[in-house]
Amino acid sequence: MLVKQKARYILDLNAEERKEFLKSFDIVLSDCDGVIWLLAGPIPGAGNIINLFLQAGKKYKLISNNSMRSDDEYLDLLGKMGVQDIGNNDIVHPVKTITRYLQKHKPGQLVYSMGCDVFNDHLRKSGIEVQTLESRNDWTFSLLSKSLKPVEPVGAVIFDLSLNLSYAALVHAQQHLKNNPNTDFIVGATDENAPVTKDLVVIGPSGFIQLLKENTGKDPIVLGKPGPLLGKFLKEHFEIKDPKRAIFFGDALEQDIKFGNACGFQTLLMLSGATTKEQMLALPEEHKPDYYANNIEDLKQLFEQKM
Ligand SMILES: [Mg+2]
Repeated sequence: MLVKQKARYILDLNAEERKEFLKSFDIVLSDCDGVIWLLAGPIPGAGNIINLFLQAGKKYKLISNNSMRSDDEYLDLLGKMGVQDIGNNDIVHPVKTITRYLQKHKPGQLVYSMGCDVFNDHLRKSGIEVQTLESRNDWTFSLLSKSLKPVEPVGAVIFDLSLNLSYAALVHAQQHLKNNPNTDFIVGATDENAPVTKDLVVIGPSGFIQLLKENTGKDPIVLGKPGPLLGKFLKEHFEIKDPKRAIFFGDALEQDIKFGNACGFQTLLMLSGATTKEQMLALPEEHKPDYYANNIEDLKQLFEQKM
């Protein structure tokens, strides 16, 4: 039997436990940034390991908070890593759940988006009318006040990470949210930081979301990780009947591990991204992952043992 102890290093499992571990799930729900690649490039060996899971008869699905990449870019990256058997429907990232939410709850309504071009293109291609703030370098407070009046009501204000985020765009969002009680505040990624390379971790979107929340009194509806609505969506979309037969791989404590635990999935923390081992060990027992690995390459040894 697998010893039920939290935060076990995956390679500390003995041969019998490794076999049992591999038998304990049918589907891997895997984060991307910090697990199979970093924002600036792939993690060595990750493609090979995804293929090992697929060859072992496991489903391998990608659950990312990054909607700055299109599905085509996801598939292109996977192809370069030698992974062929993953398609559009195997990839979930916030703009997809946001689209579904808007189609259901705000049909035909204009939305104001602070997402990047790729994100907004996805919304528009799905038939959603999207308002964005045109970027300009000559903003003054006088221009800003003119631009803000009148505030045309929108069904939702959407925040997702964009490298071109501006103060003026945040102020427009603030006014939309403050002046219209029916405007939903919808967010995708909520991460505190973003791992760009092994040695470069930068500010994530969470501080900006908090700023808007504090200035408008509106709670965000989180449609990326760790939002409960996403958990519900994943179980439906991937037909997960018994959540314990699914395992979540991730590098972020809040977005992956706490989320996975709350959904009832098994969890495995990869120390190759946003979290250090010390941060993991400092967690209260209930928030710890079931397992951890230094990086996805550690998992290769599980398959070598098996054969
Ligand atoms: Mg990540």
